[in-house]
Amino acid sequence: MSTRFAPSPTGLLHLGHVYAAKFAHDLARTTETEFLLRFEDIDTTRVRDEYYLEIEHDLKWLGLNWDSTPLRQTDRFPAYSQALAQLISRQVVYPCFCTRREIQAEIAAIHGAPHTQQEEPQYPGTCRSLSTEQGQDLINTGKPHCWRLDSKAAIEQTGELYFDDQIHGTIPVNIDLLGDVVLARKDITTSYHIAVVVDDAMQEITDVTRGSDLLSSTHVHRLLQQLLDLPTPRYHHHRLILGDNQKRLAKRDLSQSIRSLREQEKTATEILAMIN
Ligand code: GLU
Repeated sequence: MSTRFAPSPTGLLHLGHVYAAKFAHDLARTTETEFLLRFEDIDTTRVRDEYYLEIEHDLKWLGLNWDSTPLRQTDRFPAYSQALAQLISRQVVYPCFCTRREIQAEIAAIHGAPHTQQEEPQYPGTCRSLSTEQGQDLINTGKPHCWRLDSKAAIEQTGELYFDDQIHGTIPVNIDLLGDVVLARKDITTSYHIAVVVDDAMQEITDVTRGSDLLSSTHVHRLLQQLLDLPTPRYHHHRLILGDNQKRLAKRDLSQSIRSLREQEKTATEILAMIN
């Protein structure tokens, strides 16, 4: 049995991360299991070397010690490629050649106006209608492409699915929440979704603890676990620490970074008290 904290080394830790790390750490300690550290560093365009060190330093300083060598997802690309190949052979993903601009134009044509309020509007499915041969021909010409989940084909294969959340209860998988999400980006050939399910299984994580902002992603993860024949952990989607503007803390909220709080001479105990 084990839990994990999985930060991206693309910035400094802030109070929101500390809450997530402490939640996973305390669950492992009260159940006498392992607390693992995993660096979600697949987006190498945004990762910086110094952040790995600083994250480790902050966690140790706060007394949130992990149990074995931290995993780096950049060491795991072959495993992610293998998972993608499995999904391709099950015909639950398709190559998508659309540019961002083409997707926006298509969405505007369907809805009359772009859905600017949504962070990432759902893909309208343009490339889903390409035959396997048409897709392969375009790949052979070297046209850049990502791979998208064919959400309807996937759920038809798996049938109804559920996952257990210790905070929110039993949740039925709703594939419409994220639609045909990207499972392998054009530039990095994988995605958060594939990497996280493959690594949670490899590290034998029994309890996935993370912020409730990631709840919609878990619907995709449960589907991927079924398609890839991987175990499903228990989930704990915990609350988020909000900034003064009542919004979720982000990496740009530098004043709430642990480094900056330490510079303001806050002690580790005081910082841990701030998230209670
Ligand atoms: N890397 C994600 C984050 O920093 C966590 C993902 C997860 O716990 O599954 O928010």
